[in-house]
Amino acid sequence: MIIVMQQNIDKQLTKAVEARIKELGYVPHIISGEKRDVVGAVGDERGKMVLQSIESMPGVEKVVPILKPYKLASLEVSPQPSRVELAPGVVIGGEEIIVMAGPCAVESEEQIIQTAHAVKRAGARVLRGGAFKPRTSPYSFQGMEEDGLKLLAAARAETGLPIITEVVNPRDVELVARYADIMQVGARNMQNFALLKMLGQLDKPILLKRGMSATIQEFLMSAEYILAEGNRRVVLCERGIRTFETATRNTLDISAVPVLKEQTHLPVVIDPSHATGHVSLVPSMSYAAVAAGCDGLIVEVHPHPEKAASDGPQSLRPAAFADMMIRLKAFVAAAQRTLPTVD
Ligand code: PEP
Ligand code: MN
Repeated sequence: MIIVMQQNIDKQLTKAVEARIKELGYVPHIISGEKRDVVGAVGDERGKMVLQSIESMPGVEKVVPILKPYKLASLEVSPQPSRVELAPGVVIGGEEIIVMAGPCAVESEEQIIQTAHAVKRAGARVLRGGAFKPRTSPYSFQGMEEDGLKLLAAARAETGLPIITEVVNPRDVELVARYADIMQVGARNMQNFALLKMLGQLDKPILLKRGMSATIQEFLMSAEYILAEGNRRVVLCERGIRTFETATRNTLDISAVPVLKEQTHLPVVIDPSHATGHVSLVPSMSYAAVAAGCDGLIVEVHPHPEKAASDGPQSLRPAAFADMMIRLKAFVAAAQRTLPTVD
């Protein structure tokens, strides 16, 4: 249910509503707007009609049901786009298009530090790099684990770039959270509900990737798992879905961007690297993503893609990434967005 408060009222009245929602066994989520507060009450769908009684409390304008199956992710509860702080001074969901870039996997100190400097120079605001890799084959490189996290932290210390890295297993949440600024949930884990619930309890932004066979509604329900635990800093990432087409690694569902924008206030990022699997296709899909209204990109960059332990064929060399960032500017301007200025 959504409890819509009257305009410009004493905040104490909203607090009283919050307390009453708790008494009734539901979880309140206050969204403070410029003029009025809205309180989302979420919990067991079966008895939710008891919340209707809140309509007679002072300061309450109306109580309305949330029609979508996802609640806190919906535009009904939060009609304004959310700005999510990824790190101090790095906000996604506002004017600026946030570009995250780096290798698929952390492989060595030299590799990650060199890449971090290069992507920063080209205008990336966040460094990506996997320390725990969810590989389709158990015989493939599984990542450097904590040693990889340490190298990411060293790259952050050198460049000042915040780091995003994937957590694969609920058992590793605490360890990864000790190093990461942003926690990534991979496509293969989109419906790992135990993992999502743990991430919902963290005070850190989460980048949730769409499962390769997940509908947009299922994607938003997974975001809801994180939001319902209290973590509001969720960013969605479309990374291509499975179709009959084999010319690309996946099929980039570019329409997911405007569809998501019609359904949710959460920022949307596109991953053109996993979506296409080919370095030659990454720039055009990045331009298309910006034109479609995304809030950010996450792009794989490797100094020596031919030697990469994973995803070399889709990893841009630093020079190609820098070139793409220059060409991206015109699309960013056309979309009335901004990119950071680089020297
Ligand atoms: C990755 O970002 O390196 C990754 C494994 O992506 P996805 O989960 O989208 O396959
Ligand atoms: Mn990868």
